[in-house]
Amino acid sequence: MNAATITSWMHEIEAVMRVERDHLVQLDAAIGDGDHGTNMVRGFDAVVQAIDADSSQPPGKLLILSGRTLVSTVGGASGPLWGSALRSGGRVLGDQASFDGRQLVEVLAAALASIKDLGTAAVGDKTMVDALEPAVETLRGRLDSGAPLDEAVDAAAVAAEDGMRSTIPLQARKGRASYLGERSVGHQDPGATSTALIIRALQRAVVGES
Ligand code: ADP
Ligand code: MG
Repeated sequence: MNAATITSWMHEIEAVMRVERDHLVQLDAAIGDGDHGTNMVRGFDAVVQAIDADSSQPPGKLLILSGRTLVSTVGGASGPLWGSALRSGGRVLGDQASFDGRQLVEVLAAALASIKDLGTAAVGDKTMVDALEPAVETLRGRLDSGAPLDEAVDAAAVAAEDGMRSTIPLQARKGRASYLGERSVGHQDPGATSTALIIRALQRAVVGES
């Protein structure tokens, strides 16, 4: 994998956020303020513009540029959270021109750590962490047991989708939804939903190369 993988990942995210915008808005309208879909579309639209204007950079630098762009274009909680996640992930790669599955795990693990650090959320708090943490663990576990990269990333996307659905019965303990207390139960978390879309987009970017 290389810079083209990151460029393709960001384009896949931008495309799917556009398609899923209204769904994400509806999910956020139920337990938040209804801006999650527009936040993600605005952010990743700016990300692909920034990347396409400067695509000669190595993959880590493209991730850092993407993260910086999200922070500066998205006002909601998801902007700083995914922004710092992509910057931390990018720093793992430094200036190297290519990376393997092992390093992809480290990129995603750094992204997760950064979200948990900034948001002080753990699995079960009904946030994006409920989708991202199982994805990272599954990717690591599958690669450790010798699975090929495309299979491992597919399993990670399935784990993120399972994690997304696992938020439905939970009561939110972080973010805007937590203000609702018990009334947040029975709704799927918007940030976990967009996170599952982000990991599925990664799977498409990785498969597109093989
Ligand atoms: P805002 O809540 O500021 O309107 P968004 O609607 O874009 O921002 O994003 C909401 C999502 O952000 C939530 O569904 C949740 O997944 C995630 N989120 C909010 N607060 C936190 C937190 N402290 N830690 C992790 N994720 C969080
Ligand atoms: Mg919102």
